[in-house]
Amino acid sequence: MHELSLTENLVRVLQEQSVAQNFERVLSVHLEIGALSTLEPGSLEFCFEIVARGTIAENAKLEILRTPGVAICRKCNTRNELCAYGEACKQCESFELEVIAGKDMTIKNVEVV
Ligand SMILES: [Zn+2]
Repeated sequence: MHELSLTENLVRVLQEQSVAQNFERVLSVHLEIGALSTLEPGSLEFCFEIVARGTIAENAKLEILRTPGVAICRKCNTRNELCAYGEACKQCESFELEVIAGKDMTIKNVEVV
């Protein structure tokens, strides 16, 4: 399960940061998930709850924001926002799009005490 390894990574980063930046507890984590990512917010929340148990991130709130995918058209250079793969350029209807954002998960903000 992709979500599980990602949340394990996330909690590990939070633990490392707590030592480096001297905080004791994580209150919330804001994540952005690209629309082209296969990650499911529901299973991320589920995995996070399990993985965070007994760590500084236990009971932290996971706030997930979905962001649109972004692709540049190779033919006309138009910047397109995508909700899914396989959409055509809105300008010239070409399918030769280069995806530049929206495939990943990013940590936007972490609230700590
Ligand atoms: Zn185009």
